[in-house]
Amino acid sequence: MPLDLDSRFPRLSLGFFPSALHRLDRLSRLLGIELWAKRDDAASGLAFGGNKIRKLEYLAAAAVAEGCDTLVSIGNIQSNHTRQVAAVAAKLGMKCRLVQEEWTRWDDPAYGQVGNILLSRLMGATTILEGAGYSTAEKDSWHRALEAVRREGGRPYAIPAGASDHPLGGLGYARFAEELAAQEAASGMFFDTVITATCTGSTQAGMVVGFAAQDRPRRVIGIDTAADAAMTRAAVTRIAQATADLVGLPRALREDDIVIDPRFAGPDYGLPDAATIAAIRLAAETEGMLTDPVYEGKSMAGLIAMARSGEIPPGARVLYVHLGGAPALNAYHRAFAAG
Ligand SMILES: *Cc1c(COP(=O)(O)O)cnc(C)c1O
Repeated sequence: MPLDLDSRFPRLSLGFFPSALHRLDRLSRLLGIELWAKRDDAASGLAFGGNKIRKLEYLAAAAVAEGCDTLVSIGNIQSNHTRQVAAVAAKLGMKCRLVQEEWTRWDDPAYGQVGNILLSRLMGATTILEGAGYSTAEKDSWHRALEAVRREGGRPYAIPAGASDHPLGGLGYARFAEELAAQEAASGMFFDTVITATCTGSTQAGMVVGFAAQDRPRRVIGIDTAADAAMTRAAVTRIAQATADLVGLPRALREDDIVIDPRFAGPDYGLPDAATIAAIRLAAETEGMLTDPVYEGKSMAGLIAMARSGEIPPGARVLYVHLGGAPALNAYHRAFAAG
């Protein structure tokens, strides 16, 4: 049953959708599966894009409707999300205030200077470096940033980490599920296994809701990147339920709709392990497809391991959802130092 999102929920067009869907020929041959990628990393002209653009199409529409003039958000120092918020603010002629926390201990003075944070600053955002440790809990620094905007006479629009824990946070990827189904119908293909990185949760949650509205069952495997699968599962579950209620999903969500694989998260959020780095190299060398040490290198590592172990059976048609993240690569140059 179509969810009819476009007629019910206001959305600003910020991306080039539908995002491209293409076969990864050389990786398919190496892994013995039929592997395709859906390129949400390359689906917006806004500052290298990424998965937050889809979500922000809905939040930005609300910010404009409410007459707000400043987008306020929070993330890691090398957050892709805050960079995408900065781009959207620039595009809409709004101000932008970003709390950049230290979620990752990465010992390199360049970490706070290059990559995503450089781009956010270029786009005119104010970056406030304070706070530490990834968690989905609300932070004082965040409330102070909102208060500072109000004190200066501005009207802030609050966007939580990853644009996830927000009433509209799941809509972007519910719409993604409908977009994919339309691409499948046009091509006669069907992906029964979908691999996505997951962290603050609304990407996977939106997909789960969107796919639950469709007739054919499929498996969405969320590769945890928070290095705390219980926290990730709680976030995905909460946002999926809220999104299901918002869109009027005709069936109840089940516990087994939400699959979170904890095995590929590396030592901590933002820290790659050897498998992450090997996966990044393999995707780059075989397909010219760039993935990053925080998110997509981990979901790629999961995909590779599951294909090699047979958990994903030989010949299976698999969709790898590429959510962005490559702008962080330069900040992680030391991870690639050996060779
Ligand atoms: C934010 C992000 C994710 C995780 O998405 P969530 O909605 O936070 O779960 C994955 N990959 C990239 C590149 C991201 O920027």
